[in-house]
This record gives sequence, C-alpha cells and structure tokens, in this order.
Amino acid sequence: MSKTIIVSNRLPVKITENDGEYMLSPSEGGLATGLGSIYKQNDNIWIGWPGLEITEDDKKEKIIRQLKQQSLLPVFLSQEEISEYYEGFSNDVLWPVFHYYASTYANYKQSNWDFYQKVNEKFKDAVLKTAKPGDTIWVHDYQLMLLPALIREEQPDLAIGFFLHIPFPSYEMFRLIPWRAELIHGVLGADLIGFHTFDDVRHFLNAATRILPVTSSANIISDGERSIVVESFPMGIDEKKYASLPNDPQVKKDIKLIQDTFKNIKLVVTIDRLDYSKGILQRLQAFEHLLEQYPQYKEKIALYMVVVPSRDTVPQYAQLRDQIDKRVGSINAVYRTMDWTPIHYYYRSLPIEMLSALYYTADICLVTPMRDGMNLVSKEYVASRINNDGVLILSEMAGASKELIDALIVNPNNTVEVADTIIRAINMPLDEQQRRMQQMRQMVSKFNISHWVKIFMDKLKEVIQFQRSMQTRYIGSATQQSIINRYAKTNKRIIFLDYDGTLVDFKSNIEQASPDEELYRILIQLTEDPANHVVLISGRRHENLAEWFGDHRIDLVAEHGAWFKKQKTSWHKLPGLSAQWKHDILPILETYVDRTPGTFIEKKSYSLVWHYRKAQKGLGELRAGELMNNLKYLANDKGLQLLPGDKVVEIKNMEINKGKAALTLIDNNNYDFIMALGDDYTDEDIFKALPEGAVTIKIGSSLSAAKFYLRTPGEARRLLKNLTENSAVDKLIND
Ligand code: UDP
Repeated sequence: MSKTIIVSNRLPVKITENDGEYMLSPSEGGLATGLGSIYKQNDNIWIGWPGLEITEDDKKEKIIRQLKQQSLLPVFLSQEEISEYYEGFSNDVLWPVFHYYASTYANYKQSNWDFYQKVNEKFKDAVLKTAKPGDTIWVHDYQLMLLPALIREEQPDLAIGFFLHIPFPSYEMFRLIPWRAELIHGVLGADLIGFHTFDDVRHFLNAATRILPVTSSANIISDGERSIVVESFPMGIDEKKYASLPNDPQVKKDIKLIQDTFKNIKLVVTIDRLDYSKGILQRLQAFEHLLEQYPQYKEKIALYMVVVPSRDTVPQYAQLRDQIDKRVGSINAVYRTMDWTPIHYYYRSLPIEMLSALYYTADICLVTPMRDGMNLVSKEYVASRINNDGVLILSEMAGASKELIDALIVNPNNTVEVADTIIRAINMPLDEQQRRMQQMRQMVSKFNISHWVKIFMDKLKEVIQFQRSMQTRYIGSATQQSIINRYAKTNKRIIFLDYDGTLVDFKSNIEQASPDEELYRILIQLTEDPANHVVLISGRRHENLAEWFGDHRIDLVAEHGAWFKKQKTSWHKLPGLSAQWKHDILPILETYVDRTPGTFIEKKSYSLVWHYRKAQKGLGELRAGELMNNLKYLANDKGLQLLPGDKVVEIKNMEINKGKAALTLIDNNNYDFIMALGDDYTDEDIFKALPEGAVTIKIGSSLSAAKFYLRTPGEARRLLKNLTENSAVDKLIND
C-alpha cells in the first residue's frame, strides 16, 4: 500500500531528556495538528530533526524506537550541522532575504551553503530509505528547498509536493542570493509547489523563469518535459480548538483574572515570536504616538504584549530584545500612573489556556508584521471571538491580510495610521464589530487546517494524474511500433506536416530556419512512396514555402490555409479573402515596434505577425497582452482572429484555418491512413478537424487535442524516418 511521507526540518514533537529517559510531548503548532490526521494513518510517516543533539548510538536507537511508535522518523544532526545549515544558511540567508531584510541581515557564507547542501542530502537519504514507488512525499519549508530535486534525481516517479511557509520575495531580492539557481532547481523537483498567497506564486514564477531556462504558462512551469504546478494554498488553523477553548475550566479562570485586572480598560493584545520581521519596535512607536496624541485615552487603554523567546542566542535577536526592553521601559516610565501601566510586557511563552484567555478578552488584537508568510495569531484571535465582537488590526504585509479583508488593514511602517486605527477600533460600534468578525469567522472556519491539507493533497493527486495521462500519450517505442504497423498495412495515406517548431527548431531570426539536408532527405524518402500524399501546412508566407519546397512532390498550404499549391502546379488562394483591414491594423502594430526594442512585423498576404522573440524578457509578454487587449474589439468588427503564438501575435482573417484547409484536401479521397504533426495552437484546428482514426501528434507536452505527443522536432524527424525505413523492413519480412 502506498504511503505519504511528510518531511520538515523539525519533527512535530518536543523531546526532553531526564536521567537518560526521553519524554515526548506533542508540539502545539498548527502544522502538527493539521498533518496529524495524515501521518498517523496507515503506514504514513513524518521525517525531521528531533530538536536536540544526540551523539551516542544507544541513545539514538532509543529515540528511534520511541518515535517509531508515533510514526515519526528522526534525522540526527550534529551541533555543527545545526549551526551552519539551520542557524547559518536557513536563518541568516534565506529568512532575511525572503522577509526583505537582505541588506541589513543577510550573511552569504560559503560554509553555510555547503552544510545546507549536505543536510538536504541527509534528509534525502532518510526519505529514500523508506520511500517506495507510488508513495507521496510532502516537503515543508525553506530549510529543505533542495530536497525535492535530490529525491527526484534518484526516484523520478515519486509524487512530490513542496510548501513554503514563509513569503517568497520578488525576483529583485531573490537574485541577490549567490546560490539562487540551485535553490530554484531544488524546488522544481516537486510536482506541486504551494505558497500562502498569490503574490508569492507570482514572485516564484518570475524568479524561476528568469533564473533558469524554464518557461511558464499561467501557473504551470515547463522544465523540459516536466510540468510543475505552482499554486497558492492559504494555510488555516484548527479553528474548532480555539472556538471551544473558552469553555475550558482553566481558560475560564484565566479570563476572570484578566477581566478583573483590566476593568474599564480597553485591552490591546499583541503576540509574536521575537523576530525583526514582526515589526515590534514600530508597533511600540505607534503606541507611544497614540499616548502622545490622544492623552484622553490614558488609563483607558493598555497594551498587553507577549513576545515569545526565539533564536535569542543570535546577536541580532539579542539586540532586538534589548531594544524592546528599553523602549517598553521608557514608555512605561513616562506614562505610568499610580494605578495604570500602559504596556504589560511578557518575554516568555504562554500555555495555550492563557493564550486563549487573552484572545477571548482582548478588545483589539494588533498584528503588524513588516512581512509575514501567513500569520496564524490573527486567525487564532478571530476563531476565539465566539461572541463575534472585537477588532482585528492587521498589517497588509501579512499573508493573512489577503483573506481577512474585514480586518482593519494597516501599513505597519505608518505609525500615525496604526495609532489612529487603534483609536478607530476602540470606538467601533458593536454592530460593525460583529459584521466584520462574522465574515472573518466564516473565512477562518471554512479554510481551516484540514481543508488546507485536503486541497493541497487533492491538487497533488490531480497533477500526478495529469502527468500520468501525458506519459501514456507520449510516443514511446511500443506506440511508435503500432503506428509503424498501421502505416505498413495501408496504401493510401495523407500526412500533414507543420514546419516551424515541428520539423525545425525555432530560431530567433525567422529567415534562418531554412530546411537542412537531413530534413530534405526525410521528406524525399516519404514522398518516394507513391502511397503517400505529403502536405506541408504552415503559417509561413507562400513565397517562402515555394522557395524551399516548390520542386518537391509535396502539396503546400501557406499562411494557415490562405494559399494552396498542388505539387507541380501554381499557387491559388482561398476565394473571397480581403486584406483591406491591414491598412488599419498595421499602424497600430508599428506603434508597438516603436515602443518595444527587438520586435518587428512580418507581413503576409492575409495576415500580419508581430514578433517579440528578441525583446527584453517580460516586456515582450506584457506588450503582447496589451496588444491583444487593444485589438480585441477592432478584430471582432473586421472579422479577424488574434492568435497568440510562441513569442508572436498573429492577426489573420477568421475564414483562414488550418483545420478547414486540411479537410478540403481529404475530401472524398478515401485515405486509409491520416496523420498530422504540429506544435502550436493553429495546429490544434487540424487535430480537432481530422476524423477519429487519424494519428494526431503534438510536438511539445502542453495541453492539446492531439492523441499523442513528441518532445522535439528531432523526435518528430526520427518518427518520420522510422515510418519509411522500418515499414520497408516490415514489408520485406511479410512478403
Ligand atoms: N504561540 C505559542 N506560544 C506562545 C505564543 C504563541 O505557541 O506563547 C503560537 C501561536 O499560537 C501561533 C504561533 O505561535 O500559532 C505563531 O505563528 P505565526 O504564524 O503568527 O508566526 P510565526 O512564529 O510562525 O512566524
């Protein structure tokens, strides 16, 4: 039976040692809860670092045995590995760069990178030791970005998902990392890549296509023949737990205590891990500004600030802690009165009961990170507001702000705005609080942690199924043999061949793509058989095709079907076509050429093509979209069709269509073998128009109406060669 293997830097348990005995306690994180439903089922397992350094083998074995009972498998790391791979590369390079603190905190040390690679390999070994064909691997977070490709290299058929729990930065920031290409390559080993928000998806697609020779269409990246789906899956929380906690006896006690302490005071709660990305100092500045600007709220408001210790052995974090201490001290010193303290500051981790009591009693929850992948505290506050009151103030830089749009959204750098928003929240009428909170609770309830796990896993299954269906459509040796067998048994055949992208590779200069010796030889071999009727059906100008193939025993169809030339006769065109429209469209295209260096217009009798293969990356695509938009209505009016192709936009008469042209040639001819090879979207018209039994082949692995696909023009040529050569051998044997 196939299983799911979850891999993350840390295992979802806390291990404590007491007199050589180990105690395991479950960690409270949302991820552990959400994935708990998966990894404890069937033979599924979770692989990760147990969180403490173990050197002796007997101790390791003891821990392995204990963890095994909970479906957990440890990867042991030495102190050096932890400090270089985790504290060094993960937290000193990836964390600051991905949170837009590259210039202040990123420290690109070669040895950190060496260890990052080494530890990712270690995780790979652990995965491969247990993974079997058919298993699904789900890799989590920035510490393991190389792992998907490392696994893929050794076990290409495993289904691999990757989820990044922190933001993915814009290309301009990501490109600073010396090992950017290796990191993207590592992640692209996955079949499905998930982020919290659509902005992260956009940034990743942009970085991937700029840094590596891969292409993307919508949210699918093509890396050679592999298709990788990139999507956003905003992570949720265990909302039922937070909604039911206020009924717990301990929580009730804590609630009472807080309410007694803060009688007649509006309580503003903030909870964060100690981190520069959380905007804690800026928040204190905003609160100080509030006390200064709105003195009437003194003794009527209090900030309850919990900072959870984290990484405070690292100098930057220790420094941040000192700065927070000082700032809180000075604000309290200035504003405190005999019976009122403005800021209640706790530098410690709280038990979940106290956390719940705070969420339940706080009039306002203030969440103002400078940058945050998602931010779960904001969602936990919403889930805890079972009476639908309370106000959430949320930074627009937190992933959660994309979902919790009924929060009061602020820019955390704007301390004046933050202060004013706290005042607005204090004075918000109850019915407005309820209207907003109800909407947010619905959102948090529906998109909860189990929903997140389910939609990620469902999508991964769908991607794998799609890839498998593509694999069966690929013409491997068995399929090729059956096509050859059919070919050999038939004696009235028609073969439609597209030219660019099908028989020859694309060239940046369209004039350079002239046929070579090998191609001529293949075509001659095909046409020497009197049973074959070969048709070259292309979007190229008729003059072009005549020059290259005019003397061959090939029928030519040019400009997608505007021109026909039977072998040894002259050209004739489709009746009733008009080219009047070109006078109106050409000047528009010329403005695009003037504004976009590297682009040009190709003029055909019944179509115009704007080429942008040599334009600056990104700009060409942007202008193409703009052009399509610009021409949309005009094209409709004039009976034209807009065709976005491979680095081109073509505008042609609607009546011209390769599919129609192909059907005209088949008309009443009783062919017993019909085949068509093409690579782009004009060829789709042929694939769709041909009768059911036709052998239709797309060159390239994107979605198509064709029955089969091949990867490159080279493979297409090989198939054509094998058709004539191998079928001749077949015939000899049969005779
Ligand atoms: N949290 C905790 N102990 C505490 C305070 C908070 O475990 O004393 C939890 C909190 O409930 C939340 C998590 O820490 O689930 C913080 O997640 P968030 O996404 O807000 O920030 P992160 O620390 O992951 O950057």
